[in-house]
Parts: sequence; structure tokens; C-alpha cells
Amino acid sequence: MTMSIPPETDWEQAPGLLDGAMNLDLTAQQCDLAYWFRGVAQGTLKGRTETGHTAAEPTPEHMRVDGPLRDAQMLELGCRSVAEEQGTRALAHYVVGATNVAEMDFFATQLMDEARHSMVFRNHLVEMGVPAEDLHTTIAGLSAGYREEVLDPILDFAVRALRDEGDFIGAVAVFTIIIEGVLAPAAELSERKWNLLDPAASAIARGAAIDEIRHLTVGSSIVREHLLAHPEYHARLMDIVRRGRKLWDEIPDRKYIMVREHLFQEGMHQHAGLLADYEVWPGKRLLETGPEERYAMAEAWTDKMAAARLAYMGLPEAVDILRLT
Ligand code: FE
Ligand code: FE
Repeated sequence: MTMSIPPETDWEQAPGLLDGAMNLDLTAQQCDLAYWFRGVAQGTLKGRTETGHTAAEPTPEHMRVDGPLRDAQMLELGCRSVAEEQGTRALAHYVVGATNVAEMDFFATQLMDEARHSMVFRNHLVEMGVPAEDLHTTIAGLSAGYREEVLDPILDFAVRALRDEGDFIGAVAVFTIIIEGVLAPAAELSERKWNLLDPAASAIARGAAIDEIRHLTVGSSIVREHLLAHPEYHARLMDIVRRGRKLWDEIPDRKYIMVREHLFQEGMHQHAGLLADYEVWPGKRLLETGPEERYAMAEAWTDKMAAARLAYMGLPEAVDILRLT
């Protein structure tokens, strides 16, 4: 066995989230405990275990000064930190419900990844000047509505499939297609948006994105293998997809994301000098984008990624049901 760091967990060599999630093929058998300790703990996280970034990826002074840019980041990382925390708690059910040891080990590593994401998102608020002793109350305050209206319903849906319906594969599909699939493009946007404005946050987002590629690809392969072995499960899975879509349509996530995108809009123009010609995606300067346009692009990325993953899983019929744009 080679002892080198797998390229998809290497900080320099790993692909971007969308590219990796659409094109890589990883299984729970491949991503075992040894893979995680070598590739993630000693690879992705090398030099970044404490804060998720290195000293060469600083938190600029302007992120510590009151204003819309700081408010946007507080809201974004506060909410995402709670999403990761609640995700970690839900994943404990996946460790319990896993039907074999390879899946159990994989979900134990995913649980650790999400707990780490929550930690580094949260701690960046301290780097931005939130007193450590006020951190949890600050986050609870700014994420209360988002948690109740967005996170609780989707995580409940996943946990119900597992705990109440005893359907491990269905729950993996919910996490992979609905939860991670929809949150991942927001993570991609975050990395690109903050690149020059907050290098520490961008590095934190990059580290989480490398993990997310693994969560999406392995989750998809678990569903794929099950469908290949049990074609009769297809109808049940499509039922879950339809219920997931219906639930997603009832959830007001847009309302919450637009608040932070509008704050970001005002903040980035106050710091326009830092952005100059920086392109948020090829051919588009970040300064020329608006909140709606960025949200629409994240949705388009979600659709593109979902189409690739669903086809791989053997669920091409689900693409139209889940399409956002
Ligand atoms: Fe995460
Ligand atoms: Fe994840």
C-alpha cells in the first residue's frame, strides 16, 4: 500500500468542489479509516488543525470592524456553524444505522468532519473579534430562525427515515441529495466570494469543500451500489426524492440567504479596491454581481451537480423532480 496523500485530499492537488463532486468516484471501502487518518488528518489538515487555515491566510483587520461586510460573515458562518453542528448530531444516527462496517467507519469520519467544520466556522467569529465567552450565545441569537425554519425540518426528515422507518439507504440519499447537495453550492460560492476579502475564511471554506467532495461521492456510491443489488428499492427511493423536493419547496432558505447576500453586497462595495477585476466565476467580476445573481448561480451549480450525481446513482428520473432553476 502506498503511503502518499491521495490527491483528492491534498490541499494543492484536490479539485474544486463542483468538479470533484461531479467527476470523482469514491466508495466507503476506499475511504476507510486508514485513508482518513492519512489523507485528511495528515493531508488536508496539515498545518490547519487549529483554525482551518494557516498564518499565511490571515483575518484582515477590516473583518474585525463593524459594518455590513462583517455582519454578512457573522451571519453566514454563524448559520453554517449551526448547520454543521446539527448535521453532526444527525450523523450519529447514521453511525448507529450503518448496515456494514465499511459504511459505519465512513460515517464515523464524516461525523468528525462535520464537527470540525462547525468548530472552524465558529472559531473564525472569534478571529473576527467576537469574545470567546459570548460565542455560543451570539451564534444562537443570529441563527435561531434559520435553525427552526430550515435546518430542523430537513434534518428531521433524514433522521425520521433512519430512526423511525429503519431505512439507512433512504437516509443516505436524503443526506447526499437533499442536504449536502443543496448546501454544497453555497459552500462553493462562499470560497469564491471571500477569497480576497477574508483569506482565512476562504481557506476554511476550501478545507470544508475538500471534505464535502468525499461526502457527496461516497454517499452517492452507497446509494448506487444498493440500487444495483436491489433494483426493487428504486420505487421507494423515488418516493423519498418526491417527499424531499416537496419539503424543500416549503423551506424558506432563500429568505435567510438573501439577508446575508444583501449585506455582502453593501460590504463588498465598501471594499471595492480589494476586489478590482477579481472574477467570482469565469468571465464575471464579483463587483458586477448582485445578490439575486449569486443565489441563482448557486442554484444552477446545484442542478448541474445533482444531474451528474443522480445519473451516477442510477436515478436519472429524479433530475427533473429536484431541478431548482
Ligand atoms: Fe460540512
Ligand atoms: Fe459534509
